[in-house]
Amino acid sequence: MQSCVIIGAGIAGLTAARQLVQQGWTVTVLDKGRGLGGRLATRRLAGGRADHGAQVIRATTAAFSDWLTSADEQTALMEWPVDPVGAGWVGRDGMNRVAKQLATELTIETEQTVVSVQTDEMGWRIETNSGQLFRGDALLCTIPAPQALTLFVDKSNLLGPTDQHVLQTILYEPCLAVLVALNRASQIPKPGGLWLDRPDINWVADNLQKGISPDVPTVTILASTAFSRTYLDGDLNAVGQQLLEQLTDWLPAETITSVQVHRWRYSQVAQAHPDPYWRADTSLPFLFGGDGFGGIAPHDPHLNVERAFLSGQSMADWLLTHPL
Ligand SMILES: Cc1cc2nc3c(=O)[nH]c(=O)nc-3n(C[C@H](O)[C@H](O)[C@H](O)COP(=O)(O)OP(=O)(O)OC[C@H]3O[C@@H](n4cnc5c(N)ncnc54)[C@H](O)[C@@H]3O)c2cc1C
Repeated sequence: MQSCVIIGAGIAGLTAARQLVQQGWTVTVLDKGRGLGGRLATRRLAGGRADHGAQVIRATTAAFSDWLTSADEQTALMEWPVDPVGAGWVGRDGMNRVAKQLATELTIETEQTVVSVQTDEMGWRIETNSGQLFRGDALLCTIPAPQALTLFVDKSNLLGPTDQHVLQTILYEPCLAVLVALNRASQIPKPGGLWLDRPDINWVADNLQKGISPDVPTVTILASTAFSRTYLDGDLNAVGQQLLEQLTDWLPAETITSVQVHRWRYSQVAQAHPDPYWRADTSLPFLFGGDGFGGIAPHDPHLNVERAFLSGQSMADWLLTHPL
């Protein structure tokens, strides 16, 4: 039986895993997070829920659209008519639900940060921060390229100059995300998700109107790229207050009961590699994928999840069509 280790339980890693398992492979997905889903991230906040990573998903290809439709039939998704982009998909109780839907029946090891990758006579040998060893005939890496460079270049010498160059060309924007809980509904106009043309704020989403936090009103605010770059390593509480002061019409200070600020060093792709994956120049199969790979509209922020999904599919297709 063929085996594969996948680094990263985001949509790319989960999609590849699912496809390989369906074809009889033994697959282990490793993720450093406490839960799965990566940037398909939903947090609990004062008894409510808020998406602090991906906000809305769109599909431009039949492959992704078909999967979204099947997930919808299993009640994992619902449509949200966000202005001005038009209707998009969201997880029924938060975006993390999309990842959970993909993860059904997969072997996923969470809280396992990969710290070392080597090969020996038995194949790939992957070590995590807990000291555990994982083995596979093939290796897929779906973590953001700058993190992959740290893991595979700074901490090992597995990659040649061309492989390194490919990873270096993939660029990400940072994003500061502010989540707030309220003691009454926000004043954010319908449909509750708005792109803002403001210097400091890109996006505001009312998670009550979105339908994922029916009992406690919560709001997600995404800072602009310029603001996020400036304050990425600053005091997160101060950052939260600075953004909330600009939204008092919709979020009066006396209605806010709880605030959390999340720092995404790698949020959305600014520059992607044109192909849906990259095969490293190693003797055993080793592919890089994720949202940093693929030609679909790299500048449309609502197509990142689709790009990651298609990358995962393409990596699995490659393994399935190249016998080990
Ligand atoms: C604030 C924000 C808003 C966004 N809005 C949208 C949107 O509206 N629409 C859209 O389409 N996209 C959006 N995106 C982008 C979208 O979320 C991502 O493109 C997509 O989820 C990426 O999936 P992935 O599988 O490629 O990577 P990830 O989801 O990042 O998965 C990679 C996984 O690797 C794990 N990992 C990293 N290093 C290690 C290690 N050493 N060992 C083990 N595990 C490791 C991480 O924990 C993570 O779970 C947004 C992102 C952010 C942050």
